[in-house]
Parts: sequence; C-alpha cells; structure tokens
Amino acid sequence: MITIAVTAEGPDEPRVAISPETAKMLVALGARVRVESGAGSRSRISDETLKAAGAEIATNATDALSGADILLRVRRPSGDEIRALKPGAIVAAILEPYDKAAIEPLAATGASLFSMELVPRISRAQSMDVLSSQANLAGYKAVVDAASHFGQTLPMMMTAAGTVPAAKVFIMGVGVAGLQAIATARRLGAVVSATDVRPATKEQVASLGAKFVAVEDEEFKQAQTAAGYAKAMSVEYQAKQTELVANHIKTQDIVVTTALIPGRPAPRLISRAMVESMKPGSVIVDLAAERGGNCEATAPGQTVDVNGVKIIAPINLAGSVSVNASSLYAKNLFALLELFFDKQEKVLKVNWDDEIIKGTLLAKDGKIVHPNFISQPA
Ligand code: NAD
Repeated sequence: MITIAVTAEGPDEPRVAISPETAKMLVALGARVRVESGAGSRSRISDETLKAAGAEIATNATDALSGADILLRVRRPSGDEIRALKPGAIVAAILEPYDKAAIEPLAATGASLFSMELVPRISRAQSMDVLSSQANLAGYKAVVDAASHFGQTLPMMMTAAGTVPAAKVFIMGVGVAGLQAIATARRLGAVVSATDVRPATKEQVASLGAKFVAVEDEEFKQAQTAAGYAKAMSVEYQAKQTELVANHIKTQDIVVTTALIPGRPAPRLISRAMVESMKPGSVIVDLAAERGGNCEATAPGQTVDVNGVKIIAPINLAGSVSVNASSLYAKNLFALLELFFDKQEKVLKVNWDDEIIKGTLLAKDGKIVHPNFISQPA
C-alpha cells in the first residue's frame, strides 16, 4: 500500500498540504494517508476531521514520515525529513526552485522532487496550478487589507448629508492576483484602473469594468512570452511607462502592486518620489514584497509610513486566509497526485514522459532534471 505523509509546517506557514476532502480522495485512490498530529490546526482542520476522512494521525513528524512513499508539504522539507522517507520517494511542495543552494542538498537525497510552482500553465493542469489558487486569494485579501487601512470608504455614497466620492484604486500587474484585486475593488464600489506590460491584459481589465493605463507602443505589443508571462521591458519603455504611472498615481487612494517576472527580482514600479506625490492617507499594498517589492519604500513583512502614505508589504498573504488557501492547495496537490496512480491496480505508476510530470519534476535520482534549472557547464 502506498503511504502518503503530511507533516506540520514551520512557524511562519499556517497552511497545510491536506484537507479532509483530499484525505478522503487519496484514501479512495488506495493510499494510506498519515498526517502529523496538529498539522492542520492553523487552517482549522482538526485531527478528528482528518481521521473521520480516513487519515491516520501520527504522534510526531518522524512517525508520519517513516518509510512513506510520498511526502506532501506546503514549504520545502529538510533533507533529514526526506531521508526518513522510502529511498527515491516523491516529494511535492512549493520548493522555490530558483534557490539553488537550498535545492541541491534536497536533490542529493535521491527523491523525486516536484516543485508546484512549475506546473505547466496548460488547460489540463489548471486544477494543479498553485500559483493561481494562491494568487487569487492574495489579490482578494490585498484589497480587503488596503480598505481596512484606508481611513475612508470605497464606494460613492449619496446621502441626505452629502455625497461621499468613490475611492480610486490602481492595480499594477494584471495576472491572477491583479485580476482578483480589480474584481474585489470593483465589488467594494471603487473606481478602478490597472496597468500591465502584457497586451492581452487590456481586454481583461476592460471586461472587469476597470480602465487600462499603459504606454501602448510596438514593444508593448510583443511583451508576452509563449508561456503567457511578462518579458523584462527595455529601459526606454520603462522610462515612458514610469512617467505615465507617476502622473496617474498622484490621483490614487489605494495602489495594489502584483508585478512579477518568473525567476527575477520584482520590477521596481513605484519610486519613493511617486509615494511622496500621493495624498496622505493613501495606501499601497505590495504583493511582490517576497521578491523584493514593486515599490522602492517597501520593507518586506512590514508596514511603513512615508509622509502619511502607508506601504503594506505582506509576506504570504494567501496564508492569512489559510482555511481557503489550504483547501485549494490540497486540491491542487491531489490533482497532480492523481496522475501518479494506476487507479485500477491502486499502485504508483508514474509516466515520466507526461508533459505535466516532466514540467513539474525538478530533481530525480540525485540530480536536478528540470531543463530550466540544470546548471550550465562553466
Ligand atoms: P505573475 O504573477 O508572474 O505576474 C503578475 C503580473 O505582473 C503579470 O500579469 C505580468 O505581466 C505583470 N508584470 C510584470 N512586469 C510588469 C511591469 N513592469 N509592469 C506592469 N506589470 C508587470 O503572473 P500570473 O498571475 O502568474 O499570470 C501570468 C499569466 O499566466 C496570465 O496571463 C495568466 O492568465 C496566465 N495563466 C494561465 C494559466 C493556464 O492556462 N493554466 C493559469 C494561470 C495563469
């Protein structure tokens, strides 16, 4: 019987890699699910509900891991945790594959490491896409947090005592998080505008009832990779875009930044001078804080005040709605794991040539195998 282990995360990670729903589905696939006691507590998942769903509760991490075939985590496990599994076991987690120094010792354990951030962005893999499931929650929460720090209301209110104008919200970066931020700000009644370097976003912004703000030159028209991500833009383009943004931002009450380029530091979109040009009481939420931030005044994990403008730079915002984040993350993992199983025979039968498996597999048999991460010979 295949044993799947789930252990508790570290103090900074409230999410967990299993839910009662996925425990039940994994058991139905023929697996034994072993969860460290208390692992779900910060996502309001009790040992009892997991037990009722068919999971076994292990007293500690060592018991959960011992000899397991598969380890499911949110964050990277340690080398020791991996070595407690069966040799060559499967590990699936948000591994942060660009952190080579941390990955190499894990690869050396011989485990098959699946990095959930690498799930290919193709239709068949949508249900496994953790970047989307978590960014969607972060985009929502960024606007809610901004609204609670903004000492004014968001919708226009026409009352007998006078009219309160609608707040102006500007979203920078219209990927999954940005789209949800636009939708959330619109639901709260704000006047919303947004910018991105990918031309495809123009229509998406308009379809959500927001105004698109960008320099739309020839470079802009080519600014999307085949994988649907943003390209790094030229210095000339950035200068033109910066000027446009600088003029726009002065008039905004809330700015949410979400701009990322895979494998690179977050692009700097808001200078300190731009922050200083904003009205006191305005709020910036920098969702790119974990990758250095889109705003020059960002201090990752902190809220700073620049002339009365608050810059909030949350780390792991999806984790602040851990009940939902864990439930969706666990479903993403299940969707990937389902591919590993032969459902008739109830055994592991991994098709290493499958596009999704190949695209997500970072290391195997002691070596980094993902083409984007194999070191080039010097
Ligand atoms: P992301 O988190 O990598 O980046 C967020 C946004 O920042 C992107 O829209 C990017 O274009 C933008 N950005 C980068 N540099 C910028 C700059 N200098 N100024 C302004 N904006 C900048 O992106 P994401 O949310 O992961 O989504 C990327 C794309 O992938 C989107 O088109 C999304 O719809 C698509 N996607 C496809 C699938 C699928 O087909 N399965 C799943 C999820 C997302």
